[in-house]
Amino acid sequence: MKVEEKIKQLRQELREHNYNYYTLDAPVISDYEFDMRLKDLQKLEEEYPEFYDANSPTLRVGGQITKNFETVVHEHRMYSLDNSYSKEDLEDWEKRIKKLVDGEVNYTCELKYDGASISLTYVDGELARAVTRGDGIQGDNVTTNVKTIKSVPLKLKGDFPQKFDIRGEIVLPYEGFAKMNQERILAGEEPYANPRNTASGSLKLQDSSETAKRPLDCLLYSIQGDRLGIQTQYENLEKARAWGFKVPSESKLVNTIDDVLQYVAYWDEHRHNLPYETDGIVIKVNDLQQQEELGFTAKAPRWAMAYKFKAEQASTVLEEITYQVGRTGAITPVANLQPVSLAGTTVKRASLHNADQIEKLDIREGDTVYVEKGGEIIPKIVGVDFQNRNQESTPTDYISECPECHTSLIRKEGEAQHYCPNYKGCPPQIIGRIQHYISRKAMDIEGLGGETVALLVNEGLIANYADLYELKKEQVVPLERMAEKSAENLVLGIEKSKEIPFERVLFALGIRYVGETVAKKLAKHYKTIDAIVEATEEELVNVDEIGIKIAQSVQEFFTSEENKALVNRLKEYGVQLEISAEKLANQTDTLQGQTFVVSGVFEKVSRTELKKLIEDNGGKVSSSISSKTSYVVAGDKMGPSKLEKANKLGVSIISEDEFLTKIV
Ligand code: AMP
Ligand code: ZN
Repeated sequence: MKVEEKIKQLRQELREHNYNYYTLDAPVISDYEFDMRLKDLQKLEEEYPEFYDANSPTLRVGGQITKNFETVVHEHRMYSLDNSYSKEDLEDWEKRIKKLVDGEVNYTCELKYDGASISLTYVDGELARAVTRGDGIQGDNVTTNVKTIKSVPLKLKGDFPQKFDIRGEIVLPYEGFAKMNQERILAGEEPYANPRNTASGSLKLQDSSETAKRPLDCLLYSIQGDRLGIQTQYENLEKARAWGFKVPSESKLVNTIDDVLQYVAYWDEHRHNLPYETDGIVIKVNDLQQQEELGFTAKAPRWAMAYKFKAEQASTVLEEITYQVGRTGAITPVANLQPVSLAGTTVKRASLHNADQIEKLDIREGDTVYVEKGGEIIPKIVGVDFQNRNQESTPTDYISECPECHTSLIRKEGEAQHYCPNYKGCPPQIIGRIQHYISRKAMDIEGLGGETVALLVNEGLIANYADLYELKKEQVVPLERMAEKSAENLVLGIEKSKEIPFERVLFALGIRYVGETVAKKLAKHYKTIDAIVEATEEELVNVDEIGIKIAQSVQEFFTSEENKALVNRLKEYGVQLEISAEKLANQTDTLQGQTFVVSGVFEKVSRTELKKLIEDNGGKVSSSISSKTSYVVAGDKMGPSKLEKANKLGVSIISEDEFLTKIV
């Protein structure tokens, strides 16, 4: 046999054994035999490097080093999921769904695997790229590390599409996790806290041979791509399984919310027998056409819902209450606890939220308290064991001064949080604002981290974000842990931030209540910072989705002479304080004041493109028909109940072509 064929045959054979072992959990040869064959292949590959294949099973052992993980924008955004905790929550969800889609609705129930989410791209049946969720819009390219995970197929089987993405979760099963920790303890190292964080940390190791040593597993749950010919979520799972992916068999197709609850009850009890951690179940509308009709909110799909298992509780002693000052001056009381093990992690701190919460639960230092871990990362105190209270203890006196700058705290009418009003001179606020400015979703300044910001402020080199643009390399080099090169990168990173688009600059300014979405809305509506500064409260409130609280906060921000001066300085340095001409050129006001509902399947543009066209031309997209709807753009297979509703309310129905002529 020719060498090339021999190599190919060995690769194919090893792939099959890998699949049997790691995906099906049903090996057909011994580990020893497997290792022998792998060695044979390694030898041949070394001798004949001309037959190199980036997806050869020998490369599973890793060895490639990644210094910086490249940032990749997801082709399809990776959303998070809404949470539900009760039958009522699920029934409300079903009601909302049934208002928006026609016909029967079925659901798939899947386990919610607790690990690190991942998106894998396959081209011509080979793994081309693996990207972490990141912020959902962009993540890190961790392909070299993911290739070492044995249940991730490098080559697919069967009748797969030419190109698609598949989503899943990388988990560290309990058994492997325990073994890793035993080894660490033997080596005198600190054991890892929990499987989930260890799994996600494993994806970001620089040396892929280290990742290869970790017993990670990859569980898949959804395929994304164009024209895949898949009709339902359940089919999604079956297809993925047929192409060689590991898709757990516990998922189930059901018809009613009661069935969903039965599934929840069963797995709440039996999940402890599963080999990996789960933190709930995920319910998805089964029909993909219905999924499309339902679409997404800013954060999550309307067609899916997580149902969290009941949180686990533990009791421990509250040793001390301390207070943190955030970038907005908001004070957060923190409970410092005697360490206690809870749901697989050691808990030492818990949030106490605010003064009301402390008063309501009558929490005091020295109390034995109940801590609970829900979906949030930070556990919370849910109650006090009064039987165990020291008779001499007195109610907690909430602080009246800022723990950092000793200014008297204020509390606005109707607000739960106390604030330190020392905007100008309170160190954590000064540092926090600059840290927010440089953060990833804001100006994303490379080469500058949160700790360095604190250092720069403490050294008196900067006192606000505008000062960043005056920083010189020579000033930075002498700082602790700085070198010539890193100082250069820092200054370069700051310079580059001048290209960041206006909407993100607006978010970076740190105006209270102006998050990413609001910043986008304002930027789009007003187009320049000057227009926002000049806008009256009334005008601001008239902008879609801007409420009175936001409007007041925007006004308050720009009444400050200091903030105005900061913004003027940013402008002088060349930071983008208006929408670029190029972007403006692609936008019009043609559809200003008109609201559209999009229904059905289209020919010339995809649904997503259609919605974007509406928005880019100043229109608004809504998901349900009401008297405020200006037009329904109807494609093929528009739902009959939508049609009826549109007719009843006298809303005009237009075709795709009719719509397109509106905007030319
Ligand atoms: P959350 O991070 O709590 O908003 O939940 C969303 C995450 O759940 C997704 O990003 C996935 O990583 C994860 N997840 C785990 N299992 C599933 C599943 N079966 N279907 C969808 N998402 C899942
Ligand atoms: Zn303060």
